[in-house]
Amino acid sequence: MARDCIFCRIIAGEAPADVVYRDDAVIAFKDIMPRAPVHILVVPLEHIASVNDLAEKHAQTVWRMFRVAQVVAEKQGIKSTGYRLVVNNGPDSGQVVFHLHMHLLGGAPLGPFGAYRRI
Ligand code: 5GP
Ligand code: ZN
Repeated sequence: MARDCIFCRIIAGEAPADVVYRDDAVIAFKDIMPRAPVHILVVPLEHIASVNDLAEKHAQTVWRMFRVAQVVAEKQGIKSTGYRLVVNNGPDSGQVVFHLHMHLLGGAPLGPFGAYRRI
């Protein structure tokens, strides 16, 4: 646990969150600033700062994150209507919380992916 990490504090029960799923490897809770009708963060219990810090030993954890995304999408009723999974990594992506997490977005047509300047 990283004491200065908001997601570690949520996992430890020291900060509030609207938790929709939890098991021995992964937690999922509603994003505090939703950008879609369904906007849930799928977060490993282990503090891994970003995709850059993933290694082969995390293979099972990464699979479990995708599995939880499937389960939560079904629970939220968006399994068949579709959803987008986003993992930001580093400054240009806009990553603000340096504890690995997957955004699960859905519940309405999301429009084309990506907001970036043409170069
Ligand atoms: P990032 O840009 O790092 O991929 O996204 C971090 C996300 O975490 C943002 O969408 C932000 O709204 C969300 N977030 C930040 N702090 C909190 C919090 O304390 N609780 C919850 N539920 N979400 C948070
Ligand atoms: Zn953390």
